[in-house]
Amino acid sequence: MLDYDACLRYAKEEHYCPHCKTRLSCCEAPPFHVGDGLGWGCDVLFVCLNDECPLFVNSWKRFEEQYGHSSACRFMLVPGEKEGSAMMVQGKAAFTGSIIDPEAIKAQNQRYTDELEAVAQFDTCVAEKNLAPVLGVILDEKADPKSRKLACELLPKINDLSCIDALRNHKFGNEEVLYCVNIAISLLLKANYKKECPHCMEIVKAQAKVCMHCNKELA
Ligand SMILES: [Zn+2]
Ligand SMILES: [Zn+2]
Repeated sequence: MLDYDACLRYAKEEHYCPHCKTRLSCCEAPPFHVGDGLGWGCDVLFVCLNDECPLFVNSWKRFEEQYGHSSACRFMLVPGEKEGSAMMVQGKAAFTGSIIDPEAIKAQNQRYTDELEAVAQFDTCVAEKNLAPVLGVILDEKADPKSRKLACELLPKINDLSCIDALRNHKFGNEEVLYCVNIAISLLLKANYKKECPHCMEIVKAQAKVCMHCNKELA
């Protein structure tokens, strides 16, 4: 896991490729050393991702002629080092998916901070009938599934039917969370003597024989 501040700091550092003068991209280091299985000893690497870089172009040609496979060398610098070195990469796309984007990191960090703040309110939200933090965590696909399931248990206690629309309109990626959501909704409806119309999904009285929204008969 990358340290947030360190990431932002690295992403701002400027280093240039001695072969092509292109600014090196700050990339997340692979989990293991491609060559010998040792760790990099750092979370990021500065890599020249210029496909026109002479080091890249020439090594690509050489490897293809000699070994017939698509790999090449890119210029790489480990943070703190003065001189970089050529690193073997598999194919042109290597590292292009792991460029560190400070804006994306900031957004991720903000989402995580929001999640923590919402979870911290779980203790008081039942007494305060405060639905927002509970609903927010349940609907956040990136939030900790444990917190999302815990939030589902709080829903019937907060007893606010207005959450049902938002929950029904959300596409849940986690089956276990969806299961807990369904239980919470049925408990909520039951406690309020309501049910969902199976035809239009609007909430109607539990004893209704005809849906007041779509006029269809209810079993
Ligand atoms: Zn270069
Ligand atoms: Zn209906």
